Amino acid sequence: MDIHDIVILGSGPAGIQAGIHSARRGMGVLVLGKPQNSAIMKGHFENYAFVEGPVDGEALMKAGLAQVRKAGATLLEEDAVSLETAEGGFKVRTESGQEAACRAVVLATGAARKRLGVPGERELEGKGVSYCADCDAGFFKKKRVVVTGDGSAAASGALHLLHFTQDVTLVAGKLAIAPALSEELRASRVRIIEGQKIKSITGDDQVREAVLSDGTSLPADGVFIETGAKGILELGASLGLALNEEGHLAVGRDMATNVPGLFAAGDVTGPPWQMAKAVGEGCVAGLSAAVHVKGGGKG
Ligand SMILES: Cc1cc2nc3c(=O)[nH]c(=O)nc-3n(C[C@H](O)[C@H](O)[C@H](O)COP(=O)(O)OP(=O)(O)OC[C@H]3O[C@@H](n4cnc5c(N)ncnc54)[C@H](O)[C@@H]3O)c2cc1C
Repeated sequence: MDIHDIVILGSGPAGIQAGIHSARRGMGVLVLGKPQNSAIMKGHFENYAFVEGPVDGEALMKAGLAQVRKAGATLLEEDAVSLETAEGGFKVRTESGQEAACRAVVLATGAARKRLGVPGERELEGKGVSYCADCDAGFFKKKRVVVTGDGSAAASGALHLLHFTQDVTLVAGKLAIAPALSEELRASRVRIIEGQKIKSITGDDQVREAVLSDGTSLPADGVFIETGAKGILELGASLGLALNEEGHLAVGRDMATNVPGLFAAGDVTGPPWQMAKAVGEGCVAGLSAAVHVKGGGKG
């Protein structure tokens, strides 16, 4: 297991800025996440001070990655699939099965909760449609569940559901997951249907079936939509992270969450969804995490 002072989950503006500030404080820092999945890659920026735009987000990302490396942080382009407390701090596992131990964590995974946008999805949310296998699996003991998504979140969500029910079907367009996770999935009892998408979800008060693009009906009590990377709710499911009234991570001015040693920054803490806010919060979170590791004092 690799040991670091700080692990940062997310390589968008918030995570990269947290990495720059904490690494420059002499911390051993690991930044996890896929830069290409950052929201910054989708935009052109002209409201970010000191950078006269419009500037392509990709160019900003290239500069940020070079800066965080220069500051001394290590980057690993993998999603975290689990985050737990461990003696003296935390343990993080990535999609390829690598484990990292650390004293502090900065959560900077952005604000992704991707919907499928299919008929029945919104109507049946909370009535069998869920976006968090780690949070809701316990409600589906011995039930029939369908998980959909192409990435690590769907694969690890399906594997997690096996602890509660043996009837787990994973529907994927084309699975794109790390070899270790793929091996674990294919050796498991999860039934895998590739080359299909969910076209609609039906039911009245409760999910009854998922209908696939080729018309196949999958009888189901639950449909788990896991189309992004693991989000904060999934990753923090066992940690008891407190949310604010709007349902975003609750943080103080030092960007500390209610879990000691766990800090958060950027879109995960709520609106405004802006790079300037993400970068500012990332700076504070990185410094606060360094203070935590050093055992007190001012950032
Ligand atoms: C089309 C578009 C246009 C925009 N235009 C503007 C604009 O003009 N001005 C402006 O200020 N803002 C704009 N924004 C918003 C801005 O891009 C975001 O506010 C900003 O990128 C948030 O930064 P973040 O680091 O919090 O999250 P993100 O940039 O979303 O980065 C999140 C990172 O976390 C990683 N991640 C997710 N899950 C995991 C996991 N389980 N393990 C490890 N890593 C994980 C992702 O791969 C990604 O690298 C725009 C956004 C979009 C989509």
